Amino acid sequence: MSFDDVYAAYKQYINPPLARFMKLAGATVETTAHGVRITDENGKSYLDFCGGYGVFTLGYLHPKVVAAVREQLDHMALSSRVFFNAKTAALAQELARIAPGDLEISFFSNSGTEAVEAALKTARLSTKRTKIVATHNAYHGKTMGSLTATGRDVFKDSFKPLVPEFNHVAFGDLDELDRALPGAAAFIVEPVQAEGGVMIPPDGYLRGVRELCDKHGALFIADEVQTGLGRTGYVWGVDHDRAVPDILTVAKGLSGGVIPIGATISRPDVWTRAFGHAPLIHTSTFGGNPLACTAGLAALRVLEEEHLVARSRELGAYMLDRAGELMARHPDVIAEVRGRGLLVGVELTNEGYGGVIIPECLKLGLTAAYTLNQQKVIRLEPPLIVTKTEIDEALTLLGQGVTKAKEKLGELARTS
Ligand code: PMP
Repeated sequence: MSFDDVYAAYKQYINPPLARFMKLAGATVETTAHGVRITDENGKSYLDFCGGYGVFTLGYLHPKVVAAVREQLDHMALSSRVFFNAKTAALAQELARIAPGDLEISFFSNSGTEAVEAALKTARLSTKRTKIVATHNAYHGKTMGSLTATGRDVFKDSFKPLVPEFNHVAFGDLDELDRALPGAAAFIVEPVQAEGGVMIPPDGYLRGVRELCDKHGALFIADEVQTGLGRTGYVWGVDHDRAVPDILTVAKGLSGGVIPIGATISRPDVWTRAFGHAPLIHTSTFGGNPLACTAGLAALRVLEEEHLVARSRELGAYMLDRAGELMARHPDVIAEVRGRGLLVGVELTNEGYGGVIIPECLKLGLTAAYTLNQQKVIRLEPPLIVTKTEIDEALTLLGQGVTKAKEKLGELARTS
C-alpha cells in the first residue's frame, strides 16, 4: 500500500481527524523497527524517543523476547482456559518475586486501563467501600472507571455521568489527601505523573500516602503502568520512596514491547477479601495468555540480565543534564526540564512551540511527543537500551528542531 492508500484508509475507516492531524505532523508509514530505531516506507530511519509512551523498554523486537515468542508459537498462542498453563503460572510467580513488599496475586489483562479497572474493582470489593480518591492531572486510561480516575476534564466531560464517588486531590499534597480519605476504598496515584507532564512529587510523598491510607483504612493503589519496570531508574516508581502499595498496576513494558499485556498485583489478604469467594466475578478472556506471558517472562529476564534498571538511572541523569544544556541555550523556548530515570519532560514556555518543534524533529529523524494531559511538555522516553551516543544524537536533533521552530515562528510573526 502506498502512503496515499494508507492515509485514505485511515481517513475513511479509522479516524479522519486524527489521520489529518498525523499527516500535518509529518507522519509517514512505519514498516520495521529494531532497537531504538523505526524505519518508514521510504527507508528513512528515526530515532524513537517516544518509545511507545513507555512500551518499548527493551527497544523494538528484542531478540531474546522474539525468540521466546517464536518458540511458544509452535506450542500454543492463546489458552484453552480449561487447563492450567505453565507460562501464566511462571509469570505470576516472577511478578510476585519482584513486586514490592508482599504483593503476590496477579490478575492478568491486556492493557493499562484494564489493569486499572481491575485495581479499582479489587479495592471496592476488598474494603466494601465505594469512594475512590485520585489526583488532578492524573492519567489512568480511558475506559469508564479509569477515565473517572483520570484527572483531565477534556477527556471526561463528554462522557458524564461517569462512575460515582470519585474525588480528586492535588498531586503531592498530603494534607488534602488526609482530608479526602475518610471512608474511601482507595487512593490511586502514579509515582510520577507521566502523561501529566512528567510531574515529580516531593520526596517521601508515597511514604506519606502509605501512612495516610493506613490511618484511614483505605488501600493504596500505585499505577505503575508507565513508571514500572525500570522506567524511572528503579524497578518500581514507588521504590524511590521505599513505599509499598496494596495494589500495583503494570502494563506497557511488561512484555518487552512484543505482545500486549497488563497485570494488577495485589496483597494476598486484599485479594482474598475481594475474590476469595467469587473467583469469576472479574475475568478477561485473553488475559494471561501464554504468548503474552512468555514475552513477559523473557522481558523480565532481559531487564535483569542487561541491568536495565541501573542503566535507566544512570543514562536518565545524563539525558536530563543534556536537556538542561538545551534549556540554557534556548531559555525563550524551554522553561524547565525535569525527570526521573529515562522519563524526562521538556516544558516549553508556550504551548504553541510544541506544534512546530515535534514535526520539525520528525523531519530531522527524531520522534518526540507531547504528554497527553500537558501539551506544553515534550516527553523524552527512549528504550532503556538506549546508548549515550543515541542520547547525544537525539538532543542534537531536538536542538535543531527548536532552532527551526524559532525561525519558522519568527518568519510567521514578520509576515503577519
Ligand atoms: N495508567 C498510566 C499511568 C498510563 O500512563 C497509561 C497510558 N498512558 C494508562 C494507565 C492506560 O494504559 P492503556 O493505554 O494501555 O490503556
